[in-house]
Amino acid sequence: MEDIVPIECPRCQERTAQIRDGRTPAGSQRYRCKHCHTRYTPSPKDKGYDEEVRLQALSLYLDGLSLREISRLLSVNHQSVANWINDYATHMPPNLPPSILEIAILDGFYTPPTRPRRRKISASAPTDAV
Ligand SMILES: [Zn+2]
Repeated sequence: MEDIVPIECPRCQERTAQIRDGRTPAGSQRYRCKHCHTRYTPSPKDKGYDEEVRLQALSLYLDGLSLREISRLLSVNHQSVANWINDYATHMPPNLPPSILEIAILDGFYTPPTRPRRRKISASAPTDAV
């Protein structure tokens, strides 16, 4: 079960020197890239729910359903649903639809790293590329 799988840094796409770096509060293995020092969780796991259910939950969430409604519909723990949404918001994949991010911020699931006291939500990624 502890096989070392080839994982890829989400930031610099390196596959080497990806070291274990503790676990998330949800118990997922976290990794750190020795090249760019990015910390990430390649495959967040939540008590065996698969990706499909999670995406369904996200999509329902975007449709405006509450966490409890979603948990009832999909027969999952509402805390898990909250974790998934939180997870997606935290990891912020490059292709994350702005709507998810905005909802996550509005609901308090996600706090932008640097938020001036302003109501503007920037949808563009910071340009700190090398
Ligand atoms: Zn990296």
